[in-house]
Amino acid sequence: MIQSPLLPQLGGFIEGHWVTTAKSDRTFDVHNPATGDLLASLPDLGIDETKRAIESADRAQVASLTLAQRRSLLERIHDALLSQRQELGRLITLEHGKPWPEAIQEVEYAASFFDFCAQNLPLLAPHSLSQRARGLDWTVHYRPAGVAAMITPWNFPIAMLAKKFAAALAADCSSVIKPSSKTPLTMIAFFHLLQSLNLPPGKANLIVGSSSQFGETVCAHPLVRVISFTGSTEIGKQLALQAAPHLKRLSLELGGNAPFIVFADADLVDACEQLIRNKFRGAGQTCVCTNRVLVEASVYDAFASMVSERVKQLRVGNGLETDVSIGPLIDRSAVDKVSKLVSDATAKGAVVLAQHDVASLNQSDGASFMGPVVLGQVNETMDCVRQETFGPVIPLMMFHSESQAIAMANDTDYGLAAYLFTADKARATRLASQLKFGHVGLNSSSGPVASAPFGGMKQSGYGREGGLEGMLEFCELQTIVQP
Ligand code: NAP
Repeated sequence: MIQSPLLPQLGGFIEGHWVTTAKSDRTFDVHNPATGDLLASLPDLGIDETKRAIESADRAQVASLTLAQRRSLLERIHDALLSQRQELGRLITLEHGKPWPEAIQEVEYAASFFDFCAQNLPLLAPHSLSQRARGLDWTVHYRPAGVAAMITPWNFPIAMLAKKFAAALAADCSSVIKPSSKTPLTMIAFFHLLQSLNLPPGKANLIVGSSSQFGETVCAHPLVRVISFTGSTEIGKQLALQAAPHLKRLSLELGGNAPFIVFADADLVDACEQLIRNKFRGAGQTCVCTNRVLVEASVYDAFASMVSERVKQLRVGNGLETDVSIGPLIDRSAVDKVSKLVSDATAKGAVVLAQHDVASLNQSDGASFMGPVVLGQVNETMDCVRQETFGPVIPLMMFHSESQAIAMANDTDYGLAAYLFTADKARATRLASQLKFGHVGLNSSSGPVASAPFGGMKQSGYGREGGLEGMLEFCELQTIVQP
C-alpha cells in the first residue's frame, strides 16, 4: 500500500472535510502499472456525495473573493506545488508509470498555470468602453460563471486539473472535481496541500469513484453551470448530449491524431530528436503525441533508419529507476489495444523496423509494459492511422508533394495538434493555415504552455485552456450601461 507524507488520509473532500467511506460502502482499487501492486483502496463515491459536493460548492460561491485574495491563493498554490514537486512526482510515477523526472516536470507545468493566472488576473478586472455609445457609460464585468464541475483523465494526473482549476479560481468559481479512477492519488495529495492553504470550505471539492454517476449528476444538477472535461471524444460526446437539455457551458478537451510532417529540406537530425521527445512522453499516452509520421519520399529511407536507430537506444522500465525513458502503459488493456493496432498494421503490409522486447518486465501480474515500435510502409487503411494509438508506436508514411502531405494530415476527424518540419519558412507559414488543428508546431514538437490558448478543432472538442481564453471559460460576461 502507498505511503506518503502527502497522503495522511485517503478519500474525497467535501466542504472542507475528508470523506473516507462511501454511502454505498463500495470501494475501488488503484494499482501501480509497473509492478501490478495494489497502491490503495478508495471509497467509490456516487450520486449522493456528488450532490453534497455541488451544494457545498454553491454555498462557497456566495462569498466572493476579491482579485487580490484570488491572486494570493493562486500564488500560494503555485509555491506549494513547487515545494512538493519531488513527492508529487513520485506519486504520479507510482500510479501512472511515467519516469520520475518527467513526472516532476508535470508538477512544474501544473504550477505554471497558477502562476500565469495570478500574474494575469488584472485582465479580469472590469473595464469601461472608451466610446460612449448613445451617450452612455458602458462597463464590462467578468463574473464567475458559477459552480464548475471538472473531469480529468489519467494521463496527466495533476496537470490536466491545474489548467482548469487555476482558471476557475481566477474567475472565482467553486469547483467539484473528479479525477480518473486510475490515478486519483496525486489529486488526493493535491487536496491535502489545498487544505493546508486554508481554502474557503466548499471552494474546491473532490469526488473519487463512479464516473458515470458523477457525469450524470453534474450534467443534470441545476447548480452546476460549467462542465470542463478532458478525456476521450467518446465520453465528451456523451457529456455533450447529457448537458444539452440544461444548456450548460461545456469545455471539451478531447482526443487527437497528430501528424508529424517531415519535408526533405528539414534538419532531419533535429526532426528525429523532436519526434522522439514528443512521441514517447508518457509512453505515447498524451493527446499531443505524434500519431502518424509523414515523410517526403526522397528522405523517407534515411529518416526511417535514423528514427529506428534512435528508438533502439531508449530504455523501457520502472519510472522510479534512473535513466528510464519509457515507463509502462496505464494498464494491461492499454497494452492489448496498442498491440492489436500493431498486428492490424503488419497484417495489412506494414514492416517492423524496430521493436523492444519487454517480456522480462511483464512477469509480475498487472505489470503493463509495451516496448516502443517503429513501423514502415504504413498506409491509410491501417487502424493505427485512423485511431488515436495512445502508445509507443511510430507509424511511418510517405508523401510526394505538399498538397498530398496536407491532405493526408487533415484526413482525420480529430484536430488537436500537428507538427511540420521544413527549412522553408514561407512554406511553413503557408501550410500552417491549411492544417485543421488547434495547435501547430513549425520546426517544433512542443506541446502547450500556460500562457497560450490550447484546444481542438473538429472532434478534438471545443473551448480553450491556458491564456486569457482559458480563464474566460469560467467567466460570465456582464455589461452594465448607465448615464
Ligand atoms: P476517458 O475514458 O474519456 O476518461 C476521462 C475522464 O472521464 C476520467 O476521469 C473518467 O473517469 C471519466 N469518465 C469516464 N466515463 C465517464 C462518464 N460516462 N461520465 C463522466 N465521466 C466519465 O479518457 P482517458 O482514457 O482517461 O484519457 C485519455 C483520453 O483523453 C485520450 O483520448 C486523450 O487524447 C484525451 N486527452 C485530451 C487532452 C486535451 O487537452 N485535448 C489532454 C489529455 C488527454 P474514470 O477513469 O473514473 O472512468
